[in-house]
Amino acid sequence: MRPLESPASNARPAEQSASRAILRGLLNAAREAVLIVDSDMRIAAANRPASEAFARNLGSLESRRLSEIIRDFSLHQAFRKAVADEAASDIKLDLIGTENQNYDVHIAPLDLEGGRYAIGVFYDVTPIERLERVRQEFLSNISHELRTPLTSIMAFVETLEDGAIDDKENNRRFLSVIRRNAEKMNILIADILVLSLIESGNVSVDKTGVRLAHHIEDVFTSLSSRAAERNIELVNEVGDDIRVLADAGRLEQMLTNLIDNAIKFNREGGSVTVAYEERDGRSLITVADTGEGILNSHLQRIFERFYRADRGRTREIGGTGLGLAIVKHLARLHGGEVSAASTLGKGTTFTIELPVN
Ligand code: ADP
Repeated sequence: MRPLESPASNARPAEQSASRAILRGLLNAAREAVLIVDSDMRIAAANRPASEAFARNLGSLESRRLSEIIRDFSLHQAFRKAVADEAASDIKLDLIGTENQNYDVHIAPLDLEGGRYAIGVFYDVTPIERLERVRQEFLSNISHELRTPLTSIMAFVETLEDGAIDDKENNRRFLSVIRRNAEKMNILIADILVLSLIESGNVSVDKTGVRLAHHIEDVFTSLSSRAAERNIELVNEVGDDIRVLADAGRLEQMLTNLIDNAIKFNREGGSVTVAYEERDGRSLITVADTGEGILNSHLQRIFERFYRADRGRTREIGGTGLGLAIVKHLARLHGGEVSAASTLGKGTTFTIELPVN
């Protein structure tokens, strides 16, 4: 049989062209990609979503062999089965390319004008599969990050139970290890909660003209003992009169995460400088450190949840791997962005960019 949309089909009897018109209308109304294949495994009809999904640079799909368009053994089997045995089936189709595509495909026999065909409806499940992968990765990361401190807590509790509780020299030290690890878990859970609140759209920002220098000082005060431990100087270069349009609490959270990192990843005796500039109608808040810097290849990814540039070292330093993801989301909630620039061996500068009005 000729392709269903072939120009010659106009010349067919009236009822045939009516049924073709109905079929064509149905195909074009579908959002899913639909292919109709004849008994020679050639495409008899394809709708627009199918052309968009599978045509690549082939031009029209019609009259082409199915194998030319999609190379997948189980898909071919399913179409063959539908034509030969009149049996419907469902398969999963994963197309690997520059961008992977995943489909749930329903293939069913189709009798048309005395001929035997098979129709395949391709449900695009790529976004669902992607979400599922992100969800699984997220869960496995969380489990790992929670288990590490938990293992340590359990080991030290056991040591205390096995007699170390009476060891006057060490029992307090063991207790403080337990407390530190419990705190780690607490921070991680708090970060996860914030992130999931933001991602579920349940966090709103209440923007007012806030005095930036004042909030920087607050953050410096709360992180001062950590900076002092490593002899790191905290420098606030923001003028007292500078105001930015932001949610005060959320701004402080962004600054805390960036300044905390700038201290953590700094060198002993280094400095952290916070500055402000207004450029092209945007407020730019920069947090610059004098640490080792970040490789370019990592720079693009550090804003992803749980991404760490140097896993081994970061684990020693501590952290949840969620701090920058939270900053990114909060900056975006303000209609702004956050970015990072780094020179290896010299340091990294993070810039929060916020609209001025
Ligand atoms: P973490 O809790 O590990 O600090 P973040 O999301 O805050 O998680 O940061 C992600 C990763 O980005 C860090 O593990 C680290 O590798 C890198 N990073 C963040 N800030 C800096 C910085 N100021 N200097 C160097 N590396 C940094």
